[in-house]
Amino acid sequence: MRYISTRGQAPVLSFEDAMLTGLARDGGLYVPETIPTMTPEDIADLAGVSYEEAAFRVMRPFVEGSFSDAEFREIIAKAYAGFGHDARAPLVQLEPGHFLLELFHGPTLAFKDFAMQLIGQLFQVALAKRGERVTIVGATSGDTGSAAIEAFRGLDNVNVCILYPHGRVSEVQRRQMTTPTESNVHALAVDGDFDDCQARLKDMFNDFEFRDEVKLAGVNSINWGRVLAQVVYYFTSAVALGAPHRKVSFTVPTGNFGDIFAGYIAKQMGLPIEKLVIATNQNDILHRTMETGAYTKAGVTPSISPSMDIQVSSNFERALFDAYGRDGKAVSAQMDDLANGGFSISQGAMEYLREQFDSGRASEEETKAEIKTSFVHFGEVLCPHSAVGVKVARDHLGAVPMITLATAHPAKFPAAVKEACGQDAPLPPRMADLFERDERVTRVGGELEALKTVIREKIGQ
Ligand SMILES: *Cc1c(COP(=O)(O)O)cnc(C)c1O
Repeated sequence: MRYISTRGQAPVLSFEDAMLTGLARDGGLYVPETIPTMTPEDIADLAGVSYEEAAFRVMRPFVEGSFSDAEFREIIAKAYAGFGHDARAPLVQLEPGHFLLELFHGPTLAFKDFAMQLIGQLFQVALAKRGERVTIVGATSGDTGSAAIEAFRGLDNVNVCILYPHGRVSEVQRRQMTTPTESNVHALAVDGDFDDCQARLKDMFNDFEFRDEVKLAGVNSINWGRVLAQVVYYFTSAVALGAPHRKVSFTVPTGNFGDIFAGYIAKQMGLPIEKLVIATNQNDILHRTMETGAYTKAGVTPSISPSMDIQVSSNFERALFDAYGRDGKAVSAQMDDLANGGFSISQGAMEYLREQFDSGRASEEETKAEIKTSFVHFGEVLCPHSAVGVKVARDHLGAVPMITLATAHPAKFPAAVKEACGQDAPLPPRMADLFERDERVTRVGGELEALKTVIREKIGQ
């Protein structure tokens, strides 16, 4: 399988190289040259198999040429062994015709573990084969960073530096990043918001000298390997509800558009999905874009669902690439306009996007009200991100079953949950001592040079 950039100017790469690189050298994102399909029989055969077996069958064609079947099976087995639920991604019924896909049973209690745990194992095998070391630098609004640290802590061929916006992540999120004791883990608290962190990360990737000097590797949600890992649970959950014989719809609490883009890939592969609903919080650039056709930046307003507090949704570029008939020049031109505040999407491209995606938004008040409603009526304590999803899903219920992705465990956001529904959300016993552990963090200004200096120091160069 070969991978091409959404801007059409970067080298074509194998799965392994696209994964180790992260962002393409022309500033674009890697996507598969062609999307492999699964027949209705292939999909039906997923019924009753383990999550790991389903993962192997769904992802295998995408890694062809980079990992042998035996290697890939072992990687998958290790990736999901640390999950706190045997089903890995259990499905529970919320109300008639509406299901919750619980994606928070991994080591950091958010769906990002599905991708990050897999990527950690893939990196380790790939780097060991090459005898190489890399520096992973990631930007996080909270959950990516902890998931990355958890996946890479203690691995000998990797240093991990995570940039997070100082004061803008929850205490549990922060502690998950600052308490690991391994010397290859570095949490950096940056003055600024998540978009600043993400912009500096892009700057580092576009600084080829620095990129080569520290052997920079990216595991943010733009990394194709992460999108790929997330495709799997769309299949397992849909099959549990009767696919391919019955259609299902999904609602996805969305920030950087990685998770919902994985759903779009599942659909391209042949999974019969009726609707894919983008659910945003008050930072609603994607919902506004779907309504108006104009992708315009607005400032970020902090919310109780911080992992969705963004104004630029990186993975949306992948959807745009398809919407523009895979014309890298057209995507490049739009991204240049984004630097000046935004762009308008052509009518043809908008038609394509509206065929693929529905959208909705939940305000802060609606999110809090949904946490309360779900607790009182269905006995489910939802995290604020999942509540955004459930609220928007309710506005899109139809004849086919709706699956809302529950993206984090309520214990990651105990204050917001308690305020909304009066319920405590305790941490699972395996991490109950998080608040007693010592923290280790470096505060950094938001300028590129300051960050580069700190990273060089941390990795000993
Ligand atoms: C990252 C995250 C999201 C948003 O996912 P994207 O793939 O960035 O759209 C939603 N909820 C939680 C809890 C997250 O950590």
